[in-house]
Amino acid sequence: MAFAGIVRKTLGPYYYSRRLNIPNLFANFKEYREHDNWSREQLLAYQHEQMKKMLVHAYRHTKYYRELFDECSFDPEKYKSSEQLNQLPILTKDIIRDRLDDLMADDIGENECYDSFTGGTSGVKMQFYQDLVCRSRRVAMQWRSDNWAGWDPDTTVAYVWPAIQDLMENPGWKHRLAVKYITRNPIFYAGFMDHERAARIKEELTSVNPTIIRCFPTPAVTLLEYVADNRIDLPNLKGVITTGEPLYPHQTEAIEQGFNAEVFNLYASREFGTTAAECAAHKDLHIAVDSVLLEITDRGRQLPLGQHGEILITDLHNYAMPFIRYQVGDYGQLAEGDCSCGLNYPLLKNVVGRASDNFIDADGNTIVAISLVLHLVDNGPKVGQVQIVQKSVAEVLVRFTPDPIPDESVKRFYEEHLMRSVKGLQTVKFDIVDKIEPEKSGKYKFAICEIDPQEIRRLRA
Ligand SMILES: [Zn+2]
Repeated sequence: MAFAGIVRKTLGPYYYSRRLNIPNLFANFKEYREHDNWSREQLLAYQHEQMKKMLVHAYRHTKYYRELFDECSFDPEKYKSSEQLNQLPILTKDIIRDRLDDLMADDIGENECYDSFTGGTSGVKMQFYQDLVCRSRRVAMQWRSDNWAGWDPDTTVAYVWPAIQDLMENPGWKHRLAVKYITRNPIFYAGFMDHERAARIKEELTSVNPTIIRCFPTPAVTLLEYVADNRIDLPNLKGVITTGEPLYPHQTEAIEQGFNAEVFNLYASREFGTTAAECAAHKDLHIAVDSVLLEITDRGRQLPLGQHGEILITDLHNYAMPFIRYQVGDYGQLAEGDCSCGLNYPLLKNVVGRASDNFIDADGNTIVAISLVLHLVDNGPKVGQVQIVQKSVAEVLVRFTPDPIPDESVKRFYEEHLMRSVKGLQTVKFDIVDKIEPEKSGKYKFAICEIDPQEIRRLRA
């Protein structure tokens, strides 16, 4: 271990900055960790200052915001309080898709940013940009919330992950060594599950002996369902951080029992990284007010504290492409009061977001449907909103909204990937619908399994 420690200390900063293009990561992490000692007033003052800087920057350096602020008679130089944001319309994925160039700042060079895609769980694909400074802050912010769950840069965080695009297909030896000694973040693909794969993941997890597991709730619970006694014992494990999907009490229970560790819910996205994270008090989620400004709204108007509404997020650090009042597609509520853990970041609760069922194949094996959608939407052609419905083992229905109407090549891409992924699937049907309706709970479900539970039991017998 001493050897690994020396490698990390000497090569770590170089590797992150030069190889991964994440500059000043350790300095940013140190800075963010210091905010853990700040008072609520200090945190909000910092947020206000960063917000004003971002508004002024957006006005000066992007065509989109210059036009918008002028239309709304909004003067960023006179920004005094977040209530003034009510004057501004919200930013939607459609606007970003239509006006990507006008949203890019004219003072950030191409080699200072990198592009990224989001979409999977909202069913709408969207391209966006981040600058490298922002990217580094993102990772540092993630490190801080991981730290609340017991992690530090000298320990391992293992990913039980459904997004195949985050996995390198044939990693070279340099990458494997870096994962082992420097980044210490091995990824295990859990988008498909049978007993064999579950046993292998269990063995590999045991061998890397992580301090933290980061996972989507559905794949983690599915993995535990497939291993003996529904348990994986990892002696060093301090916490399991769940993200990407809503976390339900029965899942918390299954994960806590299965891994014998505390579960920490995390609200994060590809656009903003860590937005709010649960602390050791396990009450509500602490909002990263030093990274984002989060509003709870109804049709673009801020709601009083404690009311449930639509979440809008402004990124305080992405100067390459300002996101101001962005509609993430989730709902939540600000909680009053302080947390017993001593952190002073304000609290968020009852986040209702996006969810999915699992699919079943002809052998009764589980396909974590979130992995299908993440691949189809994030890696696939441009389509409107998408929902996939497994009608039976042999039939899947794909619903699209008509913006744009999918052509034959799009349908072929969906059909081929679904056929390859779901054994026994014979027919993929397509339907164009005006709108994909949310569930009664308000949750948007991007994958639905309509197979009768009795039939699932029969297939598994
Ligand atoms: Zn707390």
